[in-house]
Amino acid sequence: MKKPSIIIVGSSNTDMVIKSPYLAKPGETILGGTFFMNAGGKGANQAVAAARLGGNISLIAKVGNDIFGKQAIELFKKEGIDTTHVFTDKKHPSGVALINVDDNGENCIVVASGANAALIKEDIESAKDKIANASIVLMQLETPVSTIEHVASFAKVNGVKVVLNPAPAAELSDELLQNINIITPNQHEAGMLTNTVVDDVDAAKHAARILNGKGVETVIITLGANGALLYEKDFFTEIAAPVVKAVDTTAAGDIFNGALVVALSEGKTMKHAVEYACNAAAISVTRLGAQASAPYRNEVADAPA
Ligand code: ADP
Repeated sequence: MKKPSIIIVGSSNTDMVIKSPYLAKPGETILGGTFFMNAGGKGANQAVAAARLGGNISLIAKVGNDIFGKQAIELFKKEGIDTTHVFTDKKHPSGVALINVDDNGENCIVVASGANAALIKEDIESAKDKIANASIVLMQLETPVSTIEHVASFAKVNGVKVVLNPAPAAELSDELLQNINIITPNQHEAGMLTNTVVDDVDAAKHAARILNGKGVETVIITLGANGALLYEKDFFTEIAAPVVKAVDTTAAGDIFNGALVVALSEGKTMKHAVEYACNAAAISVTRLGAQASAPYRNEVADAPA
């Protein structure tokens, strides 16, 4: 039987990272850094994570007509991701993130969205059949909100489950929230969405109730090393994260979201899907990198049957 398809709408960036002893101050030049380049962008990270866990993934994204865009598309294909709707923009370059990391792991990031910001709702037209026949659509906030709103309302009308990972943090319209089935903020994002400070489980519960009151059926707030809080049907479930030695938590949320949608697309219960997502994300934090840290299906405990 063909696997239920998952659509991921989102960003693709190239992360250009320089490690230096400390972060540069305005006007300062620091010599002696080391440089490396990684494929990134929340949409791409989540698509790679979900594909490695066995999901049937189509990515809707936009890259520039340049070497970074071409490399990104090649990488997606290697991961088994359907790239039919990864568009190449003629005017804008591929998205780039300049990341400076210091010896303490502190970082400073500037993103030039480039082609990601040019993923407009007209681009979605050619993918509408695919969206209407999908089981789940997963989105984040690194592409224009107007496009996300458009996809969410189209998916909802067609009975397709909409999962929104509201990252990076932003305030969202009530109209958009009403079209979201499952929202997956981290603590900071949950605080931003609800105008509250989310710094413990009780505060997360309060934020989850607010989001539910705005029309989101299921709220999953990720709590870093403390796992995740699930709220649905007036019921809270706290899911602990496996205890691991974290070396790099970059993209933990992305791996979590990719794993979550794979488990849900395979008919797992919400609780089981969140446990699976916690297991996958815990593996990723024990490894360096974003996409590089995403585990394969045979590595993750309790893989959905
Ligand atoms: P984000 O990466 O978006 O900031 P979180 O920090 O909440 O989001 O992490 C997402 C998920 O990754 C958590 O719900 C948890 O399952 C897992 N995770 C993050 N940090 C750790 C850690 N130190 N140990 C185990 N799991 C972790």
